[in-house]
Amino acid sequence: MRLILLGPPGAGKGTQAQRLVKKHGIVQLSTGDMLRAAVAAGTPIGQRAKDIMARGELVPDDVVVAIVADRIDQPDARKGFILDGFPRTVPQAVALDRMLSAKGMKLDGVIELKVDANILHDRIASRVADTKARGEALRPDDNPDVLRRRIEAYRDQTAPLVDYYRGQGALGSVNGMAPIAEVADAIDRLLDPAPPTKPTGKKPVSKTVAAKRAVAAKVAAAKVAGRQNPSAARSRAAASAGRGAAARGKSTLRKTKSRRG
Ligand code: AMP
Repeated sequence: MRLILLGPPGAGKGTQAQRLVKKHGIVQLSTGDMLRAAVAAGTPIGQRAKDIMARGELVPDDVVVAIVADRIDQPDARKGFILDGFPRTVPQAVALDRMLSAKGMKLDGVIELKVDANILHDRIASRVADTKARGEALRPDDNPDVLRRRIEAYRDQTAPLVDYYRGQGALGSVNGMAPIAEVADAIDRLLDPAPPTKPTGKKPVSKTVAAKRAVAAKVAAAKVAGRQNPSAARSRAAASAGRGAAARGKSTLRKTKSRRG
């Protein structure tokens, strides 16, 4: 399974991605995590990305596209992956399409987590508080000013991907403001929609039983009609018997023909 999770910072992409990883046995590919690792390791990419990330801006397309192209070739990504935080621009999405088709791969879907911009600030504030409470280091871009810029970057550069993927018929949207478990259920329903069934409260019957019931209903109706108009009922019954014989003859012929052919 190959998925994209689309949504603004603080939408809950990471949380849902981790759950999907466990459920489907695929890997989470977060370009943010990869870039942070590159920054921490001081690689050339990390050095290039460090200040851009600290400002809340987007790292150039060619850098992230190269990282992703390399990452999805790794053996652990063969079974499938969830892209979290990539693509973030239309050129990245176009590059991803090309990359996947060159490898003979296809996306299974793009899930958009829809979240009102006003609550994103509160969500990041509580993420910061939780991180502090756990005694862990804060992300340098988890502060109000940088967050504002990240949300703007999403609105201006990433949100157009919603239309891009909708145009491909690949987009499914869920309400990212619902409780985590509800978001998870909505995503699962998008990925594995149950066949539409109308609960009738009755047990399903087999074709044979249904056919027998139909015959019984016809017989009962014929009896009623016979009591009302015996001669018309007799001729209807004769015509019906003739049609039945003709139909049986036809189907036998078809069977005979196909057995011979
Ligand atoms: P994230 O952890 O996904 O919120 O990403 C953190 C930061 O990494 C972003 O604010 C960007 O500076 C950078 N980044 C992550 N993914 C991308 C991407 N696909 N394109 C450009 N920049 C990215």
